[in-house]
Amino acid sequence: MSKTLFVTGGAGFIGSAVIRYLLNDTEHNVVNIDCLTYAGNLDSLKDVSENARYKFEKVDIRNADELKRLFAQYKPDGVMHLAAESHVDRSIDGPAEFIQTNIIGTYNLLEASRQYWNNLQDKDNFKFHHISTDEVYGSLGPTGLFTEETAYQPNSPYSASKASSDHLVRAWHHTYGLPVVTTNCSNNYGPYHFPEKLIPLMILNALDAKPLPVYGNGQQIRDWLYVEDHARALVKVFLEGKVGETYNIGGHNEKKNIEVVQLICDLLEELSPNKPVAIKHYRDLITYVADRPGHDVRYAIDASKIKRELGWSPIETFETGIRKTVQWYLDNEVWWKRVRDGSYRGERLGLG
Ligand code: NAD
Repeated sequence: MSKTLFVTGGAGFIGSAVIRYLLNDTEHNVVNIDCLTYAGNLDSLKDVSENARYKFEKVDIRNADELKRLFAQYKPDGVMHLAAESHVDRSIDGPAEFIQTNIIGTYNLLEASRQYWNNLQDKDNFKFHHISTDEVYGSLGPTGLFTEETAYQPNSPYSASKASSDHLVRAWHHTYGLPVVTTNCSNNYGPYHFPEKLIPLMILNALDAKPLPVYGNGQQIRDWLYVEDHARALVKVFLEGKVGETYNIGGHNEKKNIEVVQLICDLLEELSPNKPVAIKHYRDLITYVADRPGHDVRYAIDASKIKRELGWSPIETFETGIRKTVQWYLDNEVWWKRVRDGSYRGERLGLG
């Protein structure tokens, strides 16, 4: 039976992938709740925005009254909560927005959900799905994986704000019985990624023959998850995940940052060989810059629970996903030119 889902942050990178998936591959209705910060971009939804099952509400989750109105108006069967300030470097320069949106905004959404859910006849037909990050677990040494039991040790203002929101969600379940599920995922990459994040920044700088800034020694390790694999996992958890549980979502793709940048350069040599005359090889643009303060060394996810219990595993390897991603940026210049012409111009953030 088709459900009505609130997707907060649906104009962002992952939220827009979730909405495209819900509208293209399921029968569910979507209300996209997004206030369109610098990271929100309705262009990412232009292929589905005419769909009769899609509605957009330009609402800020910091506005509790507006959230109340939305619940009364649409009577949703659940919430997939992705709206957040999401960039670690920005959280170092200005943590206030992260506290307001990630903590207070999540609190507002939990309270609006609880008041609405309290008055439902069928209380089992509602779920609040909180989308979080593996960064709440802190940093790993050379071995080991984050599991759902790993203790929280957030290190940046961003991860601390996400950890706080995870705790609020947990408490609203244990104290009030609100049916919740939480997912913690690794670094996403893929189409429509805002060009301040590592992978799109490197692709676009390389195409402009600008330096490719690698933080510190480039040896930091991240576990990369293709955004469309993630969207599929999220919808599965929303529909089939057990209430009160947490699921880690990862791509089984641990890579050093420098390896990622080198791979992008090599793909561009193959897919976009006509570079500005000033450079011979894209790799020549790699430039080591000051490290990010408090930079976590390694993240890696044990995603065996979601595989065992819900039968999800990623389709893309890093090699297939990064090739698709580089090709997407080459084919979608209009999208990224418009994004780049806006508030963000590829400048270095996050030195404190
Ligand atoms: P994003 O920055 O691309 O998008 C965030 C969206 O939220 C934007 O559309 C923005 O306009 C909206 N938003 C921000 N503040 C809002 C507010 N106060 N009210 C309403 N809307 C608001 O983020 P993303 O990369 O798509 O991440 C989505 C979620 O997944 C976040 O919660 C993030 O913490 C989490 N996450 C992301 C990654 C990743 O690799 N990108 C990894 C782990 C977890």
